[in-house]
Amino acid sequence: MSVRSCCLTASLVVSVLCGATAASAALNAPLTSAAVSADATTALQSNQLVPDRPAVLSKRIIGRSVEDRRIRAWELGDRRSDVTVVAVADMHGNETGGEVILKQLRDGRAIQNVHLWVIPRDNPDGVVRGQRHNANGVDLNRNFGVKWRPLTGYYYAGPRPWSEPETRTLRRFLNDVDPDYVVSFHSPLYGIDVYGAKDRPFARRLSREMALPIREFDCAGVCHGTFSQWFNARHDGAAVTIELGSDPSERYLTKRGPRGLLRAVGGYR
Ligand SMILES: [Zn+2]
Repeated sequence: MSVRSCCLTASLVVSVLCGATAASAALNAPLTSAAVSADATTALQSNQLVPDRPAVLSKRIIGRSVEDRRIRAWELGDRRSDVTVVAVADMHGNETGGEVILKQLRDGRAIQNVHLWVIPRDNPDGVVRGQRHNANGVDLNRNFGVKWRPLTGYYYAGPRPWSEPETRTLRRFLNDVDPDYVVSFHSPLYGIDVYGAKDRPFARRLSREMALPIREFDCAGVCHGTFSQWFNARHDGAAVTIELGSDPSERYLTKRGPRGLLRAVGGYR
């Protein structure tokens, strides 16, 4: 087995290898056949992971879903940068455009001038099921502990705030990283949300660079327990929701979207 294919096959199993700054060390490390599983091979084919990711500084498993799937964060860019950003996708499992954008940033050329964490798949159970909610039927974007209400139905907020492991994972991770900016990708609405915006200049930069209109998405009158509400209330940084529309093009998700996000936070590659 070549070094490349060995690393490829094992990359989903040996999580500390093949994706970090230690990539070159990992390439030289012996891997046992026990690390190679059929599951990893299958996942590999669907994800098309590659070992050579110059943008990646490290990779972390930051939590687990209800059904025990791993939630991963990838650290990109430059740790010495003054600006730290966290970008989250797939909080709603049937809104996966943001995942394409974040994987494009992860898998492309080295990133300069910004310290960027990407979480391409926050709700892995929902993605596997093709549904908005997590495996408990909870709308994760109503489960955060600021202005939480016991919403039911489509916006089911869970039995109490922070009831879901995916929500607690984001709280723990963001409290640890404490970024200057957070973006959270959704659809099918279209635009940069400035409802209750904390940093309008940042929203305007996102709008300009990502070619999305400024909009006020007010959750049909009342927003309760959302991710951005929580982050904006509890952290100094600013969180913005990005709605990509009902059917963003492949070209947008792989070109303009990732390039625009990077520019909006002051990065380049
Ligand atoms: Zn959504």
